[in-house]
Amino acid sequence: MNATNAAGWRPTMGEVDMSSDTPRTFSGDYGLMLEEPLSFELGGNGKCGVDLDEPECAPLSNLPLRKAALDLPGLTEPETVRHYTRLSRQNYAIDLGPFPLGSCTMKHNPRLNEKVARFPGFADVHPLQPQQSVSGALEVISELADWLITLTGMSAVAMSPKAGAHGELCGLLCIRAAIEARGESRDVVLVPESAHGTNPATAAFAGFKVESIPATVEGRVDLEALKEKLGPNVAGVMITNPNTCGLFEPEMKAIADAVHAAGGYVYCDGANFNAVVGKVRPGDLGVDAMHINLHKTFSTPHGGGGPGAGPVVLSEALAPYAPLPFVTRDAEGQLRLVEEETAGEDHPNSFGRMVAFHGQMGMFTRALAYILSHGADGLRQVAEDAVLNANYVLRSLEDVLNAPFGSSGPCMHEALFSDKGFAEGFSTLDVAKGLIDEGFHPMTVYFPLVVHGAMLVEPTETESKAGLDRFIGSLRSLAERARSGDETLHSAPHYAPRRRLDETLAARKPVLVWKGQPASPGQPTLTEIGDR
Ligand SMILES: *Cc1c(COP(=O)(O)O)cnc(C)c1O
Repeated sequence: MNATNAAGWRPTMGEVDMSSDTPRTFSGDYGLMLEEPLSFELGGNGKCGVDLDEPECAPLSNLPLRKAALDLPGLTEPETVRHYTRLSRQNYAIDLGPFPLGSCTMKHNPRLNEKVARFPGFADVHPLQPQQSVSGALEVISELADWLITLTGMSAVAMSPKAGAHGELCGLLCIRAAIEARGESRDVVLVPESAHGTNPATAAFAGFKVESIPATVEGRVDLEALKEKLGPNVAGVMITNPNTCGLFEPEMKAIADAVHAAGGYVYCDGANFNAVVGKVRPGDLGVDAMHINLHKTFSTPHGGGGPGAGPVVLSEALAPYAPLPFVTRDAEGQLRLVEEETAGEDHPNSFGRMVAFHGQMGMFTRALAYILSHGADGLRQVAEDAVLNANYVLRSLEDVLNAPFGSSGPCMHEALFSDKGFAEGFSTLDVAKGLIDEGFHPMTVYFPLVVHGAMLVEPTETESKAGLDRFIGSLRSLAERARSGDETLHSAPHYAPRRRLDETLAARKPVLVWKGQPASPGQPTLTEIGDR
């Protein structure tokens, strides 16, 4: 790894397992897979990529001037463009192939959405523009809000949260406000074992104590265990439906009734709403608050963690506490953005404000374009096709991959497998890394925690049967290699620009300096992380 080629770059591409008669290249690149160093390593230091005029006047004497060189890469425009284009080619994307991340729902983003989002009237609005000049944008927010309320059968929606987890916080703050308004001080939130990590984290962040509810052997919430935990301290429960085992919670109404009878509220994690949109209305199941990840159910890009949008639909009981700002229609039918609470009039019980401005205009326009272009019947078909595709994956692989809940009937929109049956020493990680060699982004691994070595595969509705068969063939081959103990799987990926990185070390101690210099004693160098 420490050897450098003639250009001084680390020839990590050369680490790919090639037979000894494969010639090494001078550049260190192989075919059209290009190795890419850091921009700092491209040799631009000490030069300037653009021609700058000499300043016409002398620098102001009272300004502190930098004496030392900035030490930034002084790349020219073509060098910069190529650097980022080469990097982008190492990225896997939904526009390249299937992205089977269970729970995260990586959907194709229709180009129609992109076109609409780029209309200048939406793309160029400024949050401080006078309201009268953005009535079209307010109309989009209001129409999307109407659709979300209708599709979920709820009373109101808070549009401003920026992601699913942010929506969870919004919902729990509404619950806290409602409990305080009753003059009570309930401080416990119940969360099932199979929940997404954001659920307990949000509850703790909102100041609640988290207590866990066990799952049944069928992978569902244990209703009896939940009932035993209910009491005067319980503010509410957070339940994901469909849950993160890819199963519908059939006892949701009974759960909600029990929680309400004990004076609590029901938060539903609606990240998996894409499996039931048009089929089930959470409002009919007794839900009080639910976030909808627009970027999961209604396409819209996830964009490396943002910008997303996580509107929260609310029941009649929680609607008065929704955050500001929100869009409302006055008596003359004019849309208006309510920015401040006014005692007695505008939303006096709001718990406050979570964001500086209203929301993610680009996501709202994309989601509304998706909804309108599909229509109510099209959205229902989206859910049905997503479920059909997941069941096809589940049934096509259950002879080689253990499906822990396969016998409880069909799954919803994602298929869950475990590592049971792999040869001694072989793990879910080996299969995931092997998928990279096969040209696929790996599925979600080691989540949910209720299953050993979980593999959560979500194909989404847009994958064709031919595409699914190709993916299934790859996963089948990897499962067979893991079962038979094929040693070469341990060192996968063999054909990726990098091999097995120490991902935990990289996440816990990110290296934010170049040249592999440790930023502080004890921090790993780039070479240490990459050298595994
Ligand atoms: C994605 C997801 C979340 C978090 O949503 P973000 O938009 O990533 O914050 C919460 N719960 C479940 C079940 C999810 O799949």
